[in-house]
Amino acid sequence: MSTQNATSNVTANEPVENLNVLTSTQLVIGEALNKLGYGQEMFELLKEPLRVLTVRIPVRMDDGNVKVFTGYRAQHNDAVGPTKGGIRFHPDVTEDEVKALAIWMSVKCGIADLPYGGGKGGIICDPREMSFRELERLCRGYVRAISQIVGPTKDIPAPDVFTNSQSMAWMMDEYSRIREFDAPGFITGKPLVLGGSQGRDSSTARGVAIAIQEAAKVRGIELKNARVVVQGFGNAGGYLAKFMHDAGAKVVGISDAYGGLHDPNGLDIEYLLDRRDSFGTVTKLYKNVITNQELLELDCDILVPAAIENQITARNAHNIKAQIVVEAANGPTTIEATKILSERGILLVPDVVANAGGVIVSYFEWVQNNQGFYWNDQEVDERLQKIMSRSFHTVYETSRVRKIDMRLAAYMVGVRRMAEASQLRGWV
Ligand code: GLU
Repeated sequence: MSTQNATSNVTANEPVENLNVLTSTQLVIGEALNKLGYGQEMFELLKEPLRVLTVRIPVRMDDGNVKVFTGYRAQHNDAVGPTKGGIRFHPDVTEDEVKALAIWMSVKCGIADLPYGGGKGGIICDPREMSFRELERLCRGYVRAISQIVGPTKDIPAPDVFTNSQSMAWMMDEYSRIREFDAPGFITGKPLVLGGSQGRDSSTARGVAIAIQEAAKVRGIELKNARVVVQGFGNAGGYLAKFMHDAGAKVVGISDAYGGLHDPNGLDIEYLLDRRDSFGTVTKLYKNVITNQELLELDCDILVPAAIENQITARNAHNIKAQIVVEAANGPTTIEATKILSERGILLVPDVVANAGGVIVSYFEWVQNNQGFYWNDQEVDERLQKIMSRSFHTVYETSRVRKIDMRLAAYMVGVRRMAEASQLRGWV
């Protein structure tokens, strides 16, 4: 993940690449606004979230000691509607990262035409080293700390890296107790019995699979027997590997935080899914493990980074063999690397388009909560399919007509509505 002012490890003569996700996002926001004809004031408004709350959360650990965790909640812009976005638990969370993630949510919601601005939360912690009850106390403590600025019509959280439907259940319960009414619409990604939506669990991967289908079509690649590499085997990567396998593609590589597995004849995905732990770890059971860097450079047709930020950089972008890169993770490709891939004729479908399935079905969940009327699996999937393919083609066409890469095109499509709404409200 990002470190503030981080740069990649370079030897003396290599250029230094900016790995700060906030400053690189600001560059693309600036370029998109410029192309849309907006000036400096609009950039000043949109370059940072309107609000970032830093909280300190004391948690009684199982050994009796109190540990104080630092967390954030960022709300980028609420001109279009309440803010929306997940909560990440990870030791490498930083304030800049949470801010960038909130901006990406704005762009994502803009492209998918959801009535939201972007938000994001994060806590610096390592859930892999915490017990079930410690995690519950942390989730509840976080909600108590941010309760003033969130709510079903203000800012609606959801899962992200290392949080899941159980974390959402605890958070929803804590919020409902504070407010003294049942508030399922406060958070999305909940278990079904607590007002969750059909299909929310697999929705990010389902959306990525739709983006892959559309990208393969425009590139004339047959999905059947296509060789796919997926980096990351958590919620997004795990489901996606399965969907690709079910679609007849050959998943030749997968990885987790500790390394990757490769088989040019295709891996047994069902078996690996059965053996992975709740954090998506599976390679620890194997001897012939390759590094994540080697995995990204494997010979394949479609590469799907589905883990964390800054994985495809100026250092390895020249070695990527895939014809299509589809970003299931948020921010896996740097700005430099985006340019290199585009120059090499590789089609890169950016995160804000490719992984929007999660927030799209979150929106469906929120709508169902507000109406108290629930949809079936098929209704959810049909609506998701429609929004995903429309988003893909709007951005693809913008990039084709304007002769720009799909990331810049996505930002142009994604910030347009927010800029217009901010202007109409008289903010700029
Ligand atoms: N964390 C997911 C994302 O980055 C989902 C957010 C949501 O459902 O609100 O898009």
